[in-house]
Amino acid sequence: MSKADAQYPEPRQFIAGQWRKAEGSCAVVHNPATGDILADVPRASQRDLDDALASSSAAFNVWRRRSAIERGAILSRAAELIRERAGELARRMTLEQGKTLAESSLEFSITAETLDWYAAEGRRAYGRVIPARQPGARQLVLPEPIGPVAAFTPWNFPAVLPARKVAAALAAGCTVVLKPSEETPASSIGLAQALADAGLPDGALNVVFGVPSEVSTHLIRSPIIRKVHFTGSTSVGRQLALLAAEGLKPCTLELGGHAPVLVFDDADLDMTVAACIQGKTRNAGQVCTSPTRFLVQRGIYDDFVRRFGKAMDGLVVGPGLDPSSQMGALANRRRLDAMEELTADAIGGGGRLVAGGHRAHGTGFFWRPSLVADVPASAKAMEIEPFGPLAFVRPFSTLEEALVEANRLPYGLAAYAFTSSAATAVAVSDELQAGGVGINSFSVSNTEAPFGGVKDSGYGAEGGPEGLQAFMHLKYVNHVT
Ligand code: NAD
Repeated sequence: MSKADAQYPEPRQFIAGQWRKAEGSCAVVHNPATGDILADVPRASQRDLDDALASSSAAFNVWRRRSAIERGAILSRAAELIRERAGELARRMTLEQGKTLAESSLEFSITAETLDWYAAEGRRAYGRVIPARQPGARQLVLPEPIGPVAAFTPWNFPAVLPARKVAAALAAGCTVVLKPSEETPASSIGLAQALADAGLPDGALNVVFGVPSEVSTHLIRSPIIRKVHFTGSTSVGRQLALLAAEGLKPCTLELGGHAPVLVFDDADLDMTVAACIQGKTRNAGQVCTSPTRFLVQRGIYDDFVRRFGKAMDGLVVGPGLDPSSQMGALANRRRLDAMEELTADAIGGGGRLVAGGHRAHGTGFFWRPSLVADVPASAKAMEIEPFGPLAFVRPFSTLEEALVEANRLPYGLAAYAFTSSAATAVAVSDELQAGGVGINSFSVSNTEAPFGGVKDSGYGAEGGPEGLQAFMHLKYVNHVT
């Protein structure tokens, strides 16, 4: 392996409080902007995984007994450390993931905010007192940490997705064995390092890498693990849910999406187009809530397509480390191939290419943001999650027609509408089948709010108080004196 960036850290596993070098490697990390290799990724041995499990079990007995205030103080200290280190951490994220430096910095800022938010929320895991059935008795509902957690996170948000699980689990008093994506190890290692430096007890968080199916099978089948949390594709989520079912372990699954956007004739077009550009090209479209199927009412259809296409053509695509880049490279070659296939299929079926439609910048994984109008309903992209900077536009006439198309797919993660009518806003909020609905906004995932899908987009929620409750079970104590 020739290391292309001296400042990219050598990925190590974090097991029982030690940074452990693995005996072998399972993959290499690429720099998506150049295609160069940045590092080898360690491959957990059976011993590594068993040590991680044993230490998370031992640490659970220590950590669950710490007060919520003590646990919160460690999470808050880790948030401070992340803010202090944000410059270097953001650079590493851009190197391994491809997004712009501004996006990486924002992600670490939200990572720190997440740690702070759960540091405080852990102190509000109140439970309740039920009016007793007899004098002198106490009937109590006590939330308790569920136990050691196995968490699996993808490469698109390699710091904040681990943070949402780890911060909430630790705040609840759980311990975690985390397997982040092998494609972006340094970002999650940065999170683990901050927690370790903040004083987290050994074993409360373990980080392992390896062949995903081997690691997840080993961890989920272990009797030590009491909860499974996964963000990624629907197909993998289904496999993990089946494994968890063998041991009757609860899961939280944040899976794929295929978000519809309903743009009505009465929308503020300047604001809508500006939001669509930002929403569609954020993280190069590699976001599970990314707007994808743009359904536009006929009165403004042509105007919308023209303006959206023009704005896309004006976007600067380039290396994430270059401050002039507004959109970075795709995270891996698989996404580039998928962009090519889905765009060609949509055009081949009769779609009209308005912007982009091709690779950019030679060696890296760059793709011009693309807009295809008049896309046939039969196009693959109208069924398969593009997970990239592709926008597909179709016209509609009535609200009812738009809702039928919006709710047609088995996914139900996010859905959006742009309108100035309060009545239309209420109607779409009520009728769209999705875990999150944005009206005149593409923001449906905030630290303080629950985030999760319906149908094939998964179940359970992270974020908000619900994200803490996902790591707790309720014990009923009936104390008769
Ligand atoms: P993939 O399904 O191979 O991998 C997705 C993630 O799951 C990766 O981080 C991978 O390491 C992990 N993974 C894969 N198999 C696993 C297993 N058996 N056990 C545990 N973890 C496992 O897909 P990909 O090529 O990386 O991405 C393609 C699709 O995945 C996208 O089109 C998108 O639909 C989905 N995806 C969704 C999200 C999200 O935020 N919901 C994130 C990344 C990818």
